[in-house]
Amino acid sequence: MQGYLNNDQIDYIFYHLNFFIDTEKIRPFIYFSKESTNNDASKQIIFNLSNKKIDAENIFSIKNIPILFPLNKEKPFYSFEKNKLIFNHDILKSAFFLLSGYQEITCTEKDSLGRFMHKNSIQKKYSFTTKPIVNYYFKIITEALLDFSKKNKIKFASKQVYKKPVFILSHDVDRIKTRYSSKIPFKIKQFFNLKPARLTKKQIFNNIIKYLLKFNQKIWSLNWLLELEITHNVRSVFFLLDNDSDKDSRYSLKEKKTIELINKLKKHKFNIGIHGTYNSYKNEKKLKKIKEDLQEISNVKTMGIRQHYLRCEVPRTQILQQKAGYLYDTTLGFAEHEGFRNSFCYPFKLYDFENDKTLDIWEIPLVIMDGSLFEYRGLELHQAKKTINNISAEIKKFNGILTILWHNDYFDEVQYKGITNLYKQILKDTLDNGFQNLLGTEAIKIIEKN
Ligand SMILES: [Zn+2]
Repeated sequence: MQGYLNNDQIDYIFYHLNFFIDTEKIRPFIYFSKESTNNDASKQIIFNLSNKKIDAENIFSIKNIPILFPLNKEKPFYSFEKNKLIFNHDILKSAFFLLSGYQEITCTEKDSLGRFMHKNSIQKKYSFTTKPIVNYYFKIITEALLDFSKKNKIKFASKQVYKKPVFILSHDVDRIKTRYSSKIPFKIKQFFNLKPARLTKKQIFNNIIKYLLKFNQKIWSLNWLLELEITHNVRSVFFLLDNDSDKDSRYSLKEKKTIELINKLKKHKFNIGIHGTYNSYKNEKKLKKIKEDLQEISNVKTMGIRQHYLRCEVPRTQILQQKAGYLYDTTLGFAEHEGFRNSFCYPFKLYDFENDKTLDIWEIPLVIMDGSLFEYRGLELHQAKKTINNISAEIKKFNGILTILWHNDYFDEVQYKGITNLYKQILKDTLDNGFQNLLGTEAIKIIEKN
């Protein structure tokens, strides 16, 4: 990312900074400096800007917070010269780089599903995937600005979007009916090395036997899951998948069992949304069609989307989703690792680089996906629980959002003995830990009012 941030890009960062502080009041005091030369007038806020490219050799950290565009390694984040506040490093560009999705548009290597890979991310490189670094930046800026306002007797206060940290629970409904028998073909492929496997041949074989014994037993049912969540005082979002290709669902949005599912969810004030079909992430027409179909069947007007397999091309997919009329997307998490793909634990907006403007559609970051923990990372249940606790602690610092994706068929007690109890424990612990459970649409309503 070479060159200085332009005015639109600076506005983009201030738009998000505005969640936490009313920047309008202090905007008249702000100067963006390209030369690090400061004039003498006091009552100024100077943001020093960098025109350098990101340079691995040059990145350094202050109090464990990496600065991607540092200017002078001797200096702290900010300092005061009398009443003048000076940000010594380009913290705005660092925030822009992470939040806007810039790193994804410049990376050409994708995985077999067309996805940006965690291994290519700056988060992986500098080990901050599980820290919402942009929230840390904004916190530092907010503190500095409050300090400035006090010194200069300017009436000015910070804001709070959410009074408590937020827990958003969601299910991607790849299959409506899941029985243990449905796991067998995949396990057989694993046994014959046709699919990657973490387990030994003997373990896979034993599992196949267990699946055969439970052949017709359901892995989940809607009533069971609804009851479980209602008992735990939790509501969730079900993202429904149409059957557009053989990579998609085995049910259609319009068939009877889907309509029954939708009615039940609506009755209990749960939310429904679209699980974008396999090829829809590059196709506005498909995105629009599935949304209109679901709207027609359900009579739900406002809905969010998560793309199947997390297939997504930033920001093209979100631009198409926006055109198709979705309120929010919640695809952006790393498949391979829990954490923050845009280093932010609030709803945010992506940036349209071609037209230099902020997108309208919201992005609710996806923080934790079941498959990331147990398949990609190969964690044991107790390790997964600890991982979620650690991430929750980070999010709690900022009253941010913990988004969990748990597939409705991820209660496979053969492969993961005790996973249902773990799930219950996660729901209980998250609420006991002070999180408020919201639906995606509710979280966005609050941030829009802010
Ligand atoms: Zn899916």
